[in-house]
Amino acid sequence: MDVQHGSKKDSPILLEVSNMTNTCLRKLTTFICIALLCIFGVAQVAQAKVAVNIWNLMDSGEHLDYTNNSKYVVSVTTAVGWWNAYKKGVIRKDTSKTVNDVTMSHYSKKDGSIAITSPSGTLKFNSYYMSSLSEHNRIEVAAHEIGHALGLSHNSSKTDIMHATSLDGDKLSKNDKESYDYAYWCNQVGRM
Ligand SMILES: [Zn+2]
Repeated sequence: MDVQHGSKKDSPILLEVSNMTNTCLRKLTTFICIALLCIFGVAQVAQAKVAVNIWNLMDSGEHLDYTNNSKYVVSVTTAVGWWNAYKKGVIRKDTSKTVNDVTMSHYSKKDGSIAITSPSGTLKFNSYYMSSLSEHNRIEVAAHEIGHALGLSHNSSKTDIMHATSLDGDKLSKNDKESYDYAYWCNQVGRM
């Protein structure tokens, strides 16, 4: 399944979500989340538009432990801070005491993608396009991709971090927060 960002003006397209290579556990989690979405979806979306993906990269301890091998150290660190300001301590740098959940890297290719996050546990920034963005926009791209790793899908408001194409968000919106709440809850329920 591919989820493709449309282009914003003449800016490049964000593309992510490649082939599904989930484990059985993740498939089970996915399945349960979908079922619950059917049952509780109306109540969940009453206050904000909740958009979650059918996979996430969080581990069984409800953490997202990352290794950042990309050159976007400051951007990623700041973006992690945006998410962790809302749910403290969920996203952590991988250490010898944790198991890595997502590995970040960068590449450079004129392929129309600013960044790509995969259910196999990779998050790749494309420096071909990233290099021409402002630092603030690079942070937004990083925050957006981390959102996918946390289980969020695209949302509709241009001020959402999880909007498919807009780089107008400068903090988590109500949609972003409630989608995160729901994805996090789905992850917990799916592991019970
Ligand atoms: Zn996206």
